[in-house]
Amino acid sequence: MPQVNSVHGLTGLHEDEALFRDSVYEFADREIRPHVREMDEQAHIPRQLIDKLFALGVMAIEIPEGHGGAGASFFHAVLAVEALSRVDPSIGVLVDVQNTLVANALMRWGSEAIQRRYLPSLATRTVGAYALSEAGSGSDAFALGTRATEAPDGFVLTGRKLWITNGREADLFIVFATVNPEEGYRGITAFLVERDFPGFTVGKKEDKLGIRASSTCELLLEECRVPRANVLGDVGKGYKVAIETLNEGRIGIGAQMIGLAQGALDHTIAYIRERKQFGKAIADFQGVQFQIARAATDLEAARLMVYNAARLRDAGQPFLKEAAMCKIFSSEVAERVASLAVNLYGGYGFVKDYPVEKLYRDAKIGQIYEGTSNLQLQTIAKQILG
Ligand SMILES: Cc1cc2nc3c(=O)[nH]c(=O)nc-3n(C[C@H](O)[C@H](O)[C@H](O)COP(=O)(O)OP(=O)(O)OC[C@H]3O[C@@H](n4cnc5c(N)ncnc54)[C@H](O)[C@@H]3O)c2cc1C
Repeated sequence: MPQVNSVHGLTGLHEDEALFRDSVYEFADREIRPHVREMDEQAHIPRQLIDKLFALGVMAIEIPEGHGGAGASFFHAVLAVEALSRVDPSIGVLVDVQNTLVANALMRWGSEAIQRRYLPSLATRTVGAYALSEAGSGSDAFALGTRATEAPDGFVLTGRKLWITNGREADLFIVFATVNPEEGYRGITAFLVERDFPGFTVGKKEDKLGIRASSTCELLLEECRVPRANVLGDVGKGYKVAIETLNEGRIGIGAQMIGLAQGALDHTIAYIRERKQFGKAIADFQGVQFQIARAATDLEAARLMVYNAARLRDAGQPFLKEAAMCKIFSSEVAERVASLAVNLYGGYGFVKDYPVEKLYRDAKIGQIYEGTSNLQLQTIAKQILG
């Protein structure tokens, strides 16, 4: 892990990190911003944009160079998700799932053969998805009902997954199923399922409140045959794959939320300097200045928590509590800051011609996916109280 220079403070970045973050933000400003409204309205991310994200290198941040990735740190992935979410949190989550869940799980749990087979394509063209949730099992994820039955050449998977991010774009899915429901969480196994495996279909795409451009789909597994070589980790150890990747994924959602809050704050500061009431810019009213000061303070605290959790992860230190704390706090900050943005835009904040209405809708998801806020509180309480 690179040493953090305390002279630059706890949110200080090394030169390569700052250059990387700035280049991702410049890309987002140039290539994503002009399409944000259209992508939201059409609930769609064009493939050309995804190809540009691959070309930029943000779809394979931690994948080793030998497999075609950037070979950078988890912290770099967090910076990329933050910078993209400052412009569009839908693109932020696409990149987040690809890096912090899918590539991460393959690098940690994949056999050498799996890594050789899948990492180069994840680095260059293949979008990944992570399929744990089902209609009846969300917070209680290990109560999942998707069955994996052993067959001579591998496993046969039957069941349905719900709410799967990147479902429309993905060609590779990490699917969690149980080899033995009676064993409880000890039956859970992670499988790598390719989109064109017989018996696998992507179903309905959800019509959502926010992050509308990001696809959220149902997956259908109807006697889907998965070769034995596509078991990720060990049979019956899928719960470990899920727990460990989601612990890291939560930091990525924290990054999405601070990016969103920063984006809302950027728009608001520009707007209140322009908008005049009572003969002066509304930014000149102390009541408004104090609201902005409080939002910036909230955001600074959230960023400290997200960066700290990511640095701990890269340093190989325990970070479970910090990841849960950063997710709950930054998602609340994102909602507060986006709400203030709508307030300070006045009537213009309530219409789609201005960008903050969308950010307000987008903020809500931070308190729901990768573990609801109540589940984060449960994790934190368990760490504190034992
Ligand atoms: C846009 C979107 C994208 C998603 N992407 C993915 C994805 O890519 N992959 C994936 O696998 N899943 C994904 N999910 C699913 C998401 O992780 C779940 O929705 C989430 O974990 C909550 O599960 P649930 O919806 O079943 O709610 P429930 O678990 O039914 O929870 C409902 C309410 O009850 C509360 N609750 C539940 N249990 C407790 C408890 N023990 N104590 C206190 N309160 C409790 C919850 O906090 C919540 O407020 C996505 C969801 C959405 C909406």
